[in-house]
Amino acid sequence: MFEDTHDGHILLTPGPTPIHPRAQRALMRPMLGHMDPEVFALNGEIQQGLRMMYGTEPEAFTALLAGTGSLGMEAGFANLVEAGDEVLVCANGSFGRRMAEMAARYGARVRLVTAPLGEAIDPADVAAHLGGVGMVAVVHGETSTGVLNPVPEIARLVRRSGALLTVDAVTTAGMEPFHMAEWGVDYAYTGAQKCLSAPPGLAPVAIGERAFARYQARRTPTPLWYCDFGGLRDYWVEHTYHHTVPVNLHFALHAALQAALEEGLEARQARVRLLGHAVVTALTPLGFTHYVKDPAARLPTVLALRLPPGFDDAAVRAALRAREISVTGGLGPTAGLIWRLGLMGEAARPAPYRALMLALEDLLGERGVVDRFEEALGAVPV
Ligand SMILES: *Cc1c(COP(=O)(O)O)cnc(C)c1O
Repeated sequence: MFEDTHDGHILLTPGPTPIHPRAQRALMRPMLGHMDPEVFALNGEIQQGLRMMYGTEPEAFTALLAGTGSLGMEAGFANLVEAGDEVLVCANGSFGRRMAEMAARYGARVRLVTAPLGEAIDPADVAAHLGGVGMVAVVHGETSTGVLNPVPEIARLVRRSGALLTVDAVTTAGMEPFHMAEWGVDYAYTGAQKCLSAPPGLAPVAIGERAFARYQARRTPTPLWYCDFGGLRDYWVEHTYHHTVPVNLHFALHAALQAALEEGLEARQARVRLLGHAVVTALTPLGFTHYVKDPAARLPTVLALRLPPGFDDAAVRAALRAREISVTGGLGPTAGLIWRLGLMGEAARPAPYRALMLALEDLLGERGVVDRFEEALGAVPV
């Protein structure tokens, strides 16, 4: 379960994550054309792998967009929203607010459902604002606060209302349970550099049948030509030219996705939980506490920890950076208040966190941090 794969700089950030060694090697493959039969075969395997990762219907349309996770977000609004549409956005952090901003730019009348910082969206608040709404958008795991939103409950309500549901799965798909078909999600996206540990520059998306039907019923063409759902189909299904896809990034993502599926999605979920438990066990006696109070609302892949009183956030992180360890602090209102430790993809391994524990013992003049970490990892061979 725990082959360690790190060398060089240690990334404990909530994205990008360390590149999987198989993805790193795949980047060395010689170039092939984007219309090459071998590339179409590889793309087909990627599409099949993404169906499994997202838990879609067997024939669902999946594809890669040539951009980061934010392009996956933007493509959803560009294709599924028209001027004047009512869109309900769940915004309890900076990525939820990014969704609201994008929806508005594509002409939506945006209704916001919010929650206090560090808390999950309440499905009852969603239910109360669904009248006349054509689409609901929610971030599954809010990276800015380490909060997991209750997507299955929200999806049940949205499906009953007839609205479409777009889910940001950037910190969850591939590492946490995600069941698009079973839950009733119509459009989902992630970024290659988060849970898959592939290089940044690709946004894997899944477009459900209802979302595609909505796209086909548009009164006006999708304003974002590059990510037009029909244009994507031309390339990914019809194998005709739309734009030149970044083939080398496809090679790397293919390798990372195969590695994830070979490891097993459930084994990956267990790996995240075990590492998270060990990190919390090691750091609690230093005065670190969970930022998200409700255990059910804690996002396992982004561990948000409140810093001990008097802890010099900037100085400690600068000292860690000097040792080639990158740790991310809070954002906006949580700056100086929390750390956000990434447990996505290859970051969720003992070696990089062991390096953090060792460095903290040394920098803070503490003892026992490493021992507690090792003990919590328990009998698992590391
Ligand atoms: C990282 C992230 C994004 C945006 O991805 P980029 O690859 O930076 O464009 C969107 N949503 C969430 C929840 C993220 O963590």
